[in-house]
Order: sequence, then structure tokens, then C-alpha cells
Amino acid sequence: MPAMLRRDFFTNIVAGPAALGLARTEGSQTSGEVVVERPAAQTPHKGKVLLAVQAHADDVPLFAAGTVAKLIQEGYTGYLVRATNDDMGDAPGLGTPGTIGEHVLGNERDNEKLVSILGLKGKFDLNYNNHYMGGVAFNELMCRLIFLIRLLKVDTVVSWDPWAHDEENPDHHMTARAVEASCWIAGRAHDYPEQLAAGLTAHTVTDKYYFARRPEITRVVDISQVVDKKVDANRANVAKGPAGTNGSRLRADLAKRGLRLPLLGDDDLTADRNYIKEFVLARNRELGKQYGVEYAEVFHYVGPASFAPGSSLEEYIKKNAVPLR
Ligand SMILES: [Zn+2]
Repeated sequence: MPAMLRRDFFTNIVAGPAALGLARTEGSQTSGEVVVERPAAQTPHKGKVLLAVQAHADDVPLFAAGTVAKLIQEGYTGYLVRATNDDMGDAPGLGTPGTIGEHVLGNERDNEKLVSILGLKGKFDLNYNNHYMGGVAFNELMCRLIFLIRLLKVDTVVSWDPWAHDEENPDHHMTARAVEASCWIAGRAHDYPEQLAAGLTAHTVTDKYYFARRPEITRVVDISQVVDKKVDANRANVAKGPAGTNGSRLRADLAKRGLRLPLLGDDDLTADRNYIKEFVLARNRELGKQYGVEYAEVFHYVGPASFAPGSSLEEYIKKNAVPLR
């Protein structure tokens, strides 16, 4: 990517938010450094493939929908993986506790909507039981992800952080660990040779955007320009999650008590959208304020390896080798 273009959408923060405004010209990022990724004017990611891997239908909408929408808009071809079937959902949109079958169907429908909302090319549901992924064979989960990484030739993943703090959900843990290991092993020429014999080729994932409840923040993505897509991704989560139709249901409940909130407007769609923007995206707004943008998502970002074992040896040989006497 030309240096000029990079300057358009990367801002380097060396000493925290106070240093905001320093431009960076390098794409690589050193450990511990926080980079603010701004919208690109063009499509610098054209030809690259993105895989967003979530455990549940509301993970990506809540933590990374803005970033996924932004990266797709900037040229990526994107796919979505949902590891579970969400059968232990809360079912707020059903108006009743809901049966397991209703949870599965409702979340499957909600998840499907993310494809068009975020501009993805397709999705894959792995269909493990919700909250039971602790018992899934790790190698099986990895094998399925490695297959997809090689098949789709994935360059970048967006998923749960395997190194995150405060995480309780075993589905998030398992998904995160399997994604991380798969990103590496998919690029190894001798692992899972039967996949290679079937025509796939080894393919390494180079960029990882890891989200978490309390992440080690190394990448801040300015999602202000795509915030409405994040609102719609969360509005799609009717069967579970804190968004969905909560706004219109609150509006109806208040009306029964003879009350109204101006924020929720005069129709259900406005109520749902404004409720999500005000309450569900409050954290994105807070993060935005912290980093000098309107709305932000934050990640533990892991970029292309800056250290290749043996590279210093090669360099040494190049500089110092002399002809044999
Ligand atoms: Zn989840």
C-alpha cells in the first residue's frame, strides 16, 4: 500500500490517547503500541479475504460489527463463522422463555441477516451446542477452521481474544483458542496432509483482530462512518442479546403506563435503532471519546510476524560470507 494512503487511515499513538495525531507511515505495529485505524478513502484491502468467527449470533454484532463492515467496505471479501447453534439463548424477542428449538431457529435466522447487513459473501454454522463447547474435541474444531482458512484463503480474522481477561463463557474460550492455533497451522505445509491431497493449499493468516470483554487494546478502529451498519447488525439480534427489538418493546411498555421517551420516536423502527445507538453502543461512544473519534471498537491486534526465525542468520551470511580459499 502506498505510504500516502496508509497515512490516511492509520494514526499512531505511542504514549496513549494524549499523543493522538501523530501520523504513522508503517503498516507494521510493535508490541504494546496502540494504533488508531481510520477509514480508508479507497479500497486498500481489495483481493484480501476476511473471516469473522463468532461463538454466538450476537458476538460480532456487539464487539466487532463496525470493524467488519468497515473492512468489507475497504475491499475485503468476507465470510462469517458461527461456532454454536445458540440453543441456550435468552429469547427476549420471543416474549416467552422459549424452547430450545425456538432458540436455534431464531438465532439461525438472525445470524443469516448479518451476511447482507455487513456485506459478507457467505457464512458457515458449525452448530456446536451453546455453552457446551468445553467438551468439543479441540483438534476437531481446529481441523474445521483450518479447512475453511485454506479453502477461502483467509488473510485476516476477527474473533474472540484467546488472551483476554474476565472471560467466563467456555464457547468464547474454545473458539478463541482454536482460531488462533488454526491461523498458524493452516499455513504449515505438512499439517493435515489429507486436505492438501484433496486440492487445498497451505495458507497463513497474517492479521488478527481479537475482541474481548476487557481486551489488551493495541488497535482502535474508528467505526463512526459505519455506525448505522453496527446498529442494524444488532437490530438483527431479535432472538438474543441486549439489542433486537428492545427499543420498540420499551416504547410499548411505557405507552401502557401513559409515558413516552422522545429518544424512542414515533415508530418501532426508530425506537429500536435509537435504543441501540444510545444504550447498546454506549461503550463504543465512550471508547471513541477516549481516542478522539465518535464511535470506536477496540482490539488486541496481532499483525504479520515481524520476527522470522533464521532471518538474522541469513542477513549475517549475506554480509559476512567470503569465498572458500
Ligand atoms: Zn457469545
